[in-house]
Amino acid sequence: MPRYDFRCRSCGATFELRRTMAQANDPAVCPEGHGDTVKLLSTVAVTGGSAAAAPAPSGGGGGGGGCCGGGCCG
Ligand SMILES: [Zn+2]
Repeated sequence: MPRYDFRCRSCGATFELRRTMAQANDPAVCPEGHGDTVKLLSTVAVTGGSAAAAPAPSGGGGGGGGCCGGGCCG
């Protein structure tokens, strides 16, 4: 069952609810009891898949603040 993130506009709390997709657009009530909530756009966990992390850039630079190659380092 997908999880949906909501945010309360009354107290600013964020919370998530597990509900069916048919209920995705149903109004949600804040844990504090507020009804003024908005559904946040979030990635829906899909069963059978795993989010692949982006490969970290490797190499380059010599400790940060290297030459930009544009002549700034004279
Ligand atoms: Zn609230």
